[in-house]
Amino acid sequence: MFSLPADLKELPGGVTLIAVTKQQSEDDIHQALAAGLRHFGENRVQEAQRHWSQQRAAYSDLTLHLIGPLQRNKAADAVALFDVIHTVDREKIARALKSEMIRQKKDIPCFIQVNTGDEAQKSGIAPSDVRDFLHLCTAEIGLNIVGLMCIPPVDQDPSVHFRLLKKSGDACGLTQFSMGMSGDYRQAIAEGATHIRVGSALFGAR
Ligand SMILES: *Cc1c(COP(=O)(O)O)cnc(C)c1O
Repeated sequence: MFSLPADLKELPGGVTLIAVTKQQSEDDIHQALAAGLRHFGENRVQEAQRHWSQQRAAYSDLTLHLIGPLQRNKAADAVALFDVIHTVDREKIARALKSEMIRQKKDIPCFIQVNTGDEAQKSGIAPSDVRDFLHLCTAEIGLNIVGLMCIPPVDQDPSVHFRLLKKSGDACGLTQFSMGMSGDYRQAIAEGATHIRVGSALFGAR
């Protein structure tokens, strides 16, 4: 059941709400569209195609964000469907995305995912590698990297991680920060988020 909380209705300037529609029904997606939302996030390419391939034709002003890990064999489909990719996290993916963008004549803005908690099971590059990886992605591969993205460890104060992400990006001249989910988007905004990725606070528990 979709509903838009008051504080998400009136976000500070410069903050984009990405409504995360993974595992949501078509009906809920329609309600979010009817409420005027136009930025949507998905974490799987195939599910995103199911949710959005048709809607693309109906809504010319949609912006679709890939927020989940990307496999190399899905790079072509991802480049065909998404407008922004938040999860560039290794050289192979960066190269695969770039060659698909050339083939499809697109230049899709991308975020580098940073594993701010250095968690073994989580995707993202180590905070200490941000500068080198950014240089590889931009100067060598030619991707359009606009910012950094993180998912803080569940058991820690998220503000510490948001601050670390912001500091890393500032140091490299990046200006966009994809951080904050349903449980912590207020903290993320306070720390300088430009994109918050919100699912359950809009649609209820999955
Ligand atoms: C699912 C997901 C979200 C949204 O999570 P909620 O807690 O439901 O707001 C945000 N970011 C990523 C990367 C996700 O996979």
